[in-house]
Amino acid sequence: MTDRGALDALRQAVRVSPDNLPLRRHLAQQLLDADLLVDAEAEFRAALKLAENDLDLWTGFGEVLLRQGRSGMVLAALEAVPMEAAPPRLNLVIARALAAEGNAEAARPRYWDAAGRDPALADPGFEERLGHSGDAAAAPGPALARVLADAQAAVAAPPEPAPAETEKPAVTFADVAGMEQVKQALRMKLLLPVQQPEMFAAYGKRAGGGVMLYGPPGCGKTHLARAAAGELGAHFMSIGLSDILDMYIGQSERNLHETFETARRNSPCVLFFDEVDALAARRSDMNQAHSRQIVNQFLAEMDGVDAGANDGVLVLAATNAPWYVDIAFRRPGRFDQLVFVPPPDAAARAAILALMCRRVPLAEMDFGAVAGATDWFAGADLKGAVDRAVEAKLQEAMRAGRPLPLSTHDLMAAVRTMRPTAVTEWMNTARNYVMHSNESGAWDDLLPWIGGTGGRGR
Ligand code: ADP
Repeated sequence: MTDRGALDALRQAVRVSPDNLPLRRHLAQQLLDADLLVDAEAEFRAALKLAENDLDLWTGFGEVLLRQGRSGMVLAALEAVPMEAAPPRLNLVIARALAAEGNAEAARPRYWDAAGRDPALADPGFEERLGHSGDAAAAPGPALARVLADAQAAVAAPPEPAPAETEKPAVTFADVAGMEQVKQALRMKLLLPVQQPEMFAAYGKRAGGGVMLYGPPGCGKTHLARAAAGELGAHFMSIGLSDILDMYIGQSERNLHETFETARRNSPCVLFFDEVDALAARRSDMNQAHSRQIVNQFLAEMDGVDAGANDGVLVLAATNAPWYVDIAFRRPGRFDQLVFVPPPDAAARAAILALMCRRVPLAEMDFGAVAGATDWFAGADLKGAVDRAVEAKLQEAMRAGRPLPLSTHDLMAAVRTMRPTAVTEWMNTARNYVMHSNESGAWDDLLPWIGGTGGRGR
């Protein structure tokens, strides 16, 4: 029996590290063991979002549904998983659901498979209800990946709200560690024109146009965009351009229009488009004329249908591959301002680590030392290291039966197990593009960075 204190500690740990799969899995299982089925279902769903093909998670999820008497749903989600691919516990869950739905004949082979492979699962009472053992052979199943995709669809939570959802971020620039130059650039290009329009007008400048953030993945572009909205107390909308394109080819234009309209209704609003390179990348697999049409629509929305239509709408875009972005996006009044978001230097890494450990109980902790051992780690890599260290510590604390604080040694141990490569790979790619296509000077910000990735670190 898990006591409440331990469950609360686990919940707290998941709040600190929401993407930590082993932790989420553990919490989901503990909630199931404690018969807290509503919470367990939510946790299994959250874990499945991180690992949608994980059959052990599907098993736990199936058990939750079964205990709630939702056997039809278990079958809709899981019956198509081939018997031989399913872990024994999953076959038992499916067998019980089949039996509950009155299909003892189909339940038998699943049950015997489960009990045969894991005798601890044998249940004489259930066996009796099932009647005589059937033939354990199963027909070859459809491809597992497809079955799991169908399962995911079958149990999908109520449809997600349309992409045009706004939020009011609580984070501000104070939550973005380091990056003083980037923040300053955003203040000048994005925030001050809105906060002090008279001053800008006096110098013949007006607010408008968009800013394109570019840089290696996981280094804080999305985080910065959200924080910029927080600085202004503005609404924030985040849209992956590929989401819009994927929705319904042919309806993309309407979705784009609706997205801009929502931002206009909620002004001031930061409208953040992630992966703006997606439009260009799609060229090869999308009808060329259609792709052109979407680019045009996007640009028309940015230019504003009527004068003043986009007042208070700040458009920010992010890309890891700025060299793929259609040149038409970079014309004046559009994404005419490029801002490089660099990988964090040592001081920024120390600050990021301190921010990420804000809610973790700490012993002595030398963030500077850990920063020194994490050259070329992206913010996302640092988050991974903190997650790992917290998880190891939590296991230790559970064994010890009392809370144990995190130390420099713990973080260092986690860091040593990691080989982050995203930043160095990105810099190598960037070097090629900058060397061959910097006539316009568009990538000048990058020049100081691309010379020195050969293991020198920063
Ligand atoms: P990108 O959009 O560039 O791929 P994200 O903004 O998603 O990267 O950042 C990845 C993770 O790293 C997020 O959890 C973010 O909060 C964290 N992170 C990155 N840079 C910083 C920073 N300077 N300060 C605080 N957290 C950061």
